[in-house]
Amino acid sequence: MQFLIHYLKPHVRRMAGGMTCKFLGTIMDLLIPALLAYMLDGIVPTKNAGQIYLYGGLMVLCSILAWVGNVFANRVAAGVARDCTRQIRHDLFGKITRLTAGEMDRFTIPSLISRMTTDTYNVYRMTGMMQRIGIRAPILLVGGIIVTMTRDAALSALLVALLPFMALIVWFISRKGVPLYTEQQKNVDHLTRIVRENLTGIRIIKALSKTPDEKRRFGQINEALAASETKAASVMAVNGPTMQFLLNMGLVLVVVVGARRVHFGLTGPGNIIAFISYFTIILNAMLTITRILTMYSKALASARRIEEVLDGEEEKAPDALLPLDAAAPHIQFDHVTFSYNKKEPDVKDVSFSLQRGQRLGILGPTGAGKSTLIKLLLRLYDPDEGAIRIQGADIRSLPLETLRRMFGVVFQNDALFRGTIGDNIKLGREISLEQVDRAMADAQAAFIRDKGGLDAEVVSRGQNFSGGQQQRMLLARALAGNPDILILDDASSALDFKTEAALRAALRAGYGNATTVIIAQRISAVMQCDQILVMEDGEPKGLGTHQDLMQSCPLYREIAQLQLGGEQDE
Ligand code: ADP
Repeated sequence: MQFLIHYLKPHVRRMAGGMTCKFLGTIMDLLIPALLAYMLDGIVPTKNAGQIYLYGGLMVLCSILAWVGNVFANRVAAGVARDCTRQIRHDLFGKITRLTAGEMDRFTIPSLISRMTTDTYNVYRMTGMMQRIGIRAPILLVGGIIVTMTRDAALSALLVALLPFMALIVWFISRKGVPLYTEQQKNVDHLTRIVRENLTGIRIIKALSKTPDEKRRFGQINEALAASETKAASVMAVNGPTMQFLLNMGLVLVVVVGARRVHFGLTGPGNIIAFISYFTIILNAMLTITRILTMYSKALASARRIEEVLDGEEEKAPDALLPLDAAAPHIQFDHVTFSYNKKEPDVKDVSFSLQRGQRLGILGPTGAGKSTLIKLLLRLYDPDEGAIRIQGADIRSLPLETLRRMFGVVFQNDALFRGTIGDNIKLGREISLEQVDRAMADAQAAFIRDKGGLDAEVVSRGQNFSGGQQQRMLLARALAGNPDILILDDASSALDFKTEAALRAALRAGYGNATTVIIAQRISAVMQCDQILVMEDGEPKGLGTHQDLMQSCPLYREIAQLQLGGEQDE
């Protein structure tokens, strides 16, 4: 909750204004029955028409003031809630972009999405509600009790007798109902996650005829959610009618006791009417408070989930760039070991060193740790042991901006964004049209011209293009920035052999200065590299040229024989 106070602070004055209006509006509401009682008991018997109009007019004035005050206050409340939540969403999004990759793994993406959306919405609702009925209900409750006490102590005793019962209900709701709502919220999260996974993977689920399984999985959580809703609702269902019952009983008692008191001339009938109004006001305020409690607990859970992310660990790097050593190797892995879960290493003791302009191929079966090496090089994760250096400087000593700007990267599961082809290639960078054209040509993306050029539309995740076309656009994106270091993680797997060979030739001709790291399943994509690193189960199994490895590395030889058959030259 601490963080909410921080976000509300800039709006304190506005909130104070709104709440004052709410306060005054509510007091006006409270005054009306008292005025009515006075009119009925004090003025009507005197038959003084002038006075009757005066007090009638006063009641109308109170109603108008109450209306104005409440409308103004509600608008201010909505405004504060909106501005405060907008800022939270803004900061939350910024924070998510700065989270370390490890933290992203910990929170998971679906959960981050629901924290950005559902949870911020719950907080929005609560901050709005607290300023409106959060102020109004207690004033009506306390104010109502005080007014009734001063009007007629004997009748108030009835109310006091009912209060413990009402308190009991509030206690019951907060002890029993609220945890049930928390459980329900968890089930909603779970359901959302399953739906999201399903819709993302709908093609594969259909292709593998897993639909019945998925339906069952969805059915289970849907049932669980329905069950928790039933439970919460059946507890909450007691709330309203019980309060209403108490209200009715109270009213009956007020009428019975009140009638006797009127009969004995202890009070006027107007007073009884006012009392009945206050009774209704007080009990409704109690009901509202139980609603606030439910909402509050829901929003509290959401606020905690948001706070967790805001407190998440950020990527840290120094701001200043130390001079780099031009004579040192461009990229150097020095006995690098890393584990995602900090148990079994996913990459063990990897060392290599590349001079500027050299090409490294990384080859190995899936799960061998190839992409992990790239993530370490980009500093998405930090090694547990050893160091990665660029021109002699440990990458942990480089500002992140500087480090990441050196790279042109095509990741294995990269996606295009919704927009035009041109937007996707430029990706917000200052890149000239000639550069884009050249990158497209080098990436063998001539098909773009047939598709309508750079202004052609790309739908979300690039699904209106084939896998190979997407890959070439991603390649063009990486090449367009004229990177110092080019990283291609399985970037040509969807290209046919001829296109792949043309791409390799274009890279050699146009990007000789860029140090290149190529991850591939196909040996033909890496066999001409200056060095090839063979990985298996996170361990380096060989490092050298194609010829070296054919001699020294049984795994490499095996892959070569499988893929190239007898002839090992391209
Ligand atoms: P490759 O690129 O060679 O196919 P990866 O480097 O992607 O292999 O994966 C190496 C190992 O690390 C795998 O066993 C994989 O399960 C694990 N791994 C990859 N990414 C993560 C992650 N974000 N969290 C936990 N484990 C991961």
